[in-house]
Amino acid sequence: MTQRQLHPQTAYTHFVVTLEGKVAIITGAASGIGEAAAKLFVENGAFVVVADIQEELGLTVVASIAGPDVDRAIYKKCDVTVEKQVEETVAFAIEKYGSLDIMYCNAGILGPIDSILDMDMEEGFDRTMAVNLRGPALCIKHAARAMVKRQVRGSIICTASSASILGGLGPIGYNTSKHGLVGLVRAAASELGKHGIRVNCVSPYFVATPLAISGMSAMGINNASGFEALASSAANLKGVALKAKHVAEAALFLASDESSIYVSGHNLAVDGGFTVVDNSIT
Ligand code: NAD
Repeated sequence: MTQRQLHPQTAYTHFVVTLEGKVAIITGAASGIGEAAAKLFVENGAFVVVADIQEELGLTVVASIAGPDVDRAIYKKCDVTVEKQVEETVAFAIEKYGSLDIMYCNAGILGPIDSILDMDMEEGFDRTMAVNLRGPALCIKHAARAMVKRQVRGSIICTASSASILGGLGPIGYNTSKHGLVGLVRAAASELGKHGIRVNCVSPYFVATPLAISGMSAMGINNASGFEALASSAANLKGVALKAKHVAEAALFLASDESSIYVSGHNLAVDGGFTVVDNSIT
């Protein structure tokens, strides 16, 4: 067998993804995907502000991930729909840790399961839009302002969804908000590139978190085996359930310097190919 030879002048270094010393805010980090990201980011060297409306859960997450190094993570109560609270959370991160390198806009809600024929415009549409679209817009605005002011070449990530790529996934407000989120990410990426700030999103398929489970329950799927079956049902996931940590790993790459300045404006599907195959015939 012939060994593949590298050109002697080609210097490759081992590719290690790290967030060593970086400061991140993760919204919606008291549960699910945000919680998994907070844990993974800390494990990879970051200082993390766990920003969420759920104080008790947020404090529990901080206690579980920070361990003896109590300064690695901290909880900050933040409703992403309220501009003052988002602004205060950014200021809090900088005051506590001295910088802001990563803003992970992950908080989201599903809203009531509905049809376009009987949409609840307040609870289903406006509220979902406020959390899933206005929230990330405020987080991007205030994180980017701080990054530009401090000349930080930061990374902003949003959690979109397979519902940002396909129609007919989830409630109408949810489906719409996630499509809008991709537009927001592209607009922000195009403007912020000149400051060296990257903006991307991750788009997961079904992960059994409280958000997704509430939606499934409303549709009559309400046991662990049903969630497991759904989480592994995308055609080429081949029976492997998608977990929050898989999504967090994609976010970690986008947050790190190992995704270069050229990686911006993307919607990274973390769905086992769900959105690229015709699931209707499998
Ligand atoms: P989750 O319910 O486990 O976590 C959502 C978190 O967001 C909760 O901790 C909640 O308190 C917080 N939150 C809700 N409203 C908030 C607000 N106004 N301000 C601050 N925090 C708020 O759900 P999850 O599945 O981990 O959801 C995280 C993100 O992933 C959401 O944006 C969701 O749309 C997206 N997503 C989830 C799935 C899935 O199947 N679980 C699939 C695709 C996308």
